[in-house]
Amino acid sequence: VQDYVGFDTITQQMERKFLKRGFNLNVILVGESGMGKSTLVNSIFSTHLVDSQGRRTAQEVIRKTTEISPVTQTLEENGVRVRLTIIDTPGFGDQCNNEGCWVPVIKYIKDQHAAYLARELKPFRDRIINDTRVHACLYFLNPGSRGLRPLDVEVLKRLTEVTNVIPVIAKSDSMTTDERTLFKRRVKEEMAFHRISVYPYACDDDVDEDRALNASIRDLIPFAVVGSEETIDVDGTVVRGRRHGWGVINIFDEAHCDFVHLRNFMLRTHLSDLIEVTAQRHYEQFRTSQLRQIKE
Ligand code: GDP
Ligand code: MG
Repeated sequence: VQDYVGFDTITQQMERKFLKRGFNLNVILVGESGMGKSTLVNSIFSTHLVDSQGRRTAQEVIRKTTEISPVTQTLEENGVRVRLTIIDTPGFGDQCNNEGCWVPVIKYIKDQHAAYLARELKPFRDRIINDTRVHACLYFLNPGSRGLRPLDVEVLKRLTEVTNVIPVIAKSDSMTTDERTLFKRRVKEEMAFHRISVYPYACDDDVDEDRALNASIRDLIPFAVVGSEETIDVDGTVVRGRRHGWGVINIFDEAHCDFVHLRNFMLRTHLSDLIEVTAQRHYEQFRTSQLRQIKE
């Protein structure tokens, strides 16, 4: 064909660049200890990334302060490499007085923005800035509470201002289907009441297709999750699940929990958007406010 000039190869060119360079994904975990944070992350990425409770040393369990510890690991799927950093915030909100317990978490997120900005403003910039900006925050709601507790409201208000928050109901196998539905409805109402806006944002619904997908996701939020690091043999098929007195929970079964929906949402449909929105919304806001302060 005479008129073909070849700019359609840009997708292949981009793919090559991606394959060579890989990308960073940084996820922060916020919630009380014992809520299954480590287990869920290990379940989502089908690998052992962070130690869950069973393997924790006694010293760590008694540690009082919230110490933020990022763990980075490179994962590969069909030649695509991701440098995944999980930022664990152990024991969040465990103290009797939780006043200000979110401060180190917010500080961590802002520090990454500040570090990125500093490198961006250098006269000779690195060609590629190692991106440590937090792309998503998995926020674990205690299944025992009947909705958002005052602490959740406080923390969510602040977190949603600096990052993409994905709320989940932890260990949802402890609830009945009705309890789950009620819990979800309460959380949605409370978030609307307190004007807490979680990811995905309404303004990103530009295309009809996105609008429908995002609406179905908003409907599921908060994702009722179950995590497991155990594989169980159920009539000859091996599933990742949890054994209960009444039977086995298969975490991949959509009738049992929202695990698959959450994983598809984070990795299959919204991964690149999470990274883009971080740069274009959260980082941009930080950058503007910082640079404005310098000018004034
Ligand atoms: P973390 O402190 O929030 O990181 O919690 P862990 O991932 O270490 O899990 C704490 C305990 O809860 C472990 O004994 C897990 O096996 C268990 N656990 C994790 N996820 C679930 C879940 O979805 N349902 C139930 N019933 N137990 C879970
Ligand atoms: Mg943990």
